[in-house]
Amino acid sequence: VTALGGGSGDGTCVALDIGGTKIAAATVTSAGAVRARVSTSTPHTGSSAVLAAAAELVSTLTGGTPPAALGVGSPGVVDTEAGTVRSASDILPGWAGARVVAELGRRCGCPVVVDNDVRVMAVGEARLGAGRAYSDALYVSVGTGIGGAIWRGGQLWRGPHATAGEIAHLLVPAEGPVPCGCGRRDHIEAVASGPAIEAAHALRTGSAGDLRAIAEAMRDGDDVATGVVANAAGLLGRAIAGFVSGIDVEAVIVGGGVSLLGDAFITPLANALRAEVLPPLREIAVHGAHLGADAPLIGAAMIAFERLRRSSTASSVTS
Ligand SMILES: [Zn+2]
Repeated sequence: VTALGGGSGDGTCVALDIGGTKIAAATVTSAGAVRARVSTSTPHTGSSAVLAAAAELVSTLTGGTPPAALGVGSPGVVDTEAGTVRSASDILPGWAGARVVAELGRRCGCPVVVDNDVRVMAVGEARLGAGRAYSDALYVSVGTGIGGAIWRGGQLWRGPHATAGEIAHLLVPAEGPVPCGCGRRDHIEAVASGPAIEAAHALRTGSAGDLRAIAEAMRDGDDVATGVVANAAGLLGRAIAGFVSGIDVEAVIVGGGVSLLGDAFITPLANALRAEVLPPLREIAVHGAHLGADAPLIGAAMIAFERLRRSSTASSVTS
């Protein structure tokens, strides 16, 4: 465990959360405590500018001292072996092909590890959050989009094309009020993402309101708001039921901004899921995520600590 020090010391790693609108960096302990944080807006002038801004942010955070290791959560399909981004949506123009590990390693002077942002959140929940008790789980992120990650035997399972857990495109028997990220309307992301819930609510009420306003309306006993949220959650539960039956896990952990609606979202999702899965899975655990808004940073730090453990094991084997 002492080997986890070094660099900036104190047994901390630095986490980077790269998003379409902002980049956040934080110093995080191995227990998941966020010690310090900084953020900046994401440049939209290509991947080099994004990585330069990210490295600058890390330097600001640590006062120029190289961190022990840097863990990065990135949008898109990430090749973790190569440390590059295989494909990315328009959320970050020019991000596909970004050489995250090579560039940030050179600029920050420390070991760097990168994974898809939803996978990173899943690692955080699996190590320190709602997934701690399970070795096989599906993590579902419901926010601006819908993503997922599969935890198998205590480790992330990525699959041969790095798309394992990408559940956004499960077919649903409904047309969404917004298009899925891929353009289709009959995919679960078009029906149950945050923007889809907001659009469905606006269609029903004739007035636009964000998730916060919808949550407030539910608290005031508004049946329309409650029904819109329950409908989206139920369709998501039915869609992932078939998926869960196919991969067989102990638990489903639901994170992302929409999961902050709490039981109003989780309960109809769990009920629909349990009604639709194969009988051996009827008692499957369904939990809201525990790490909240810091999940991307805590998870990114956890993959950095795992990277350090791997290199200390490798050096003790060779020495
Ligand atoms: Zn789709």
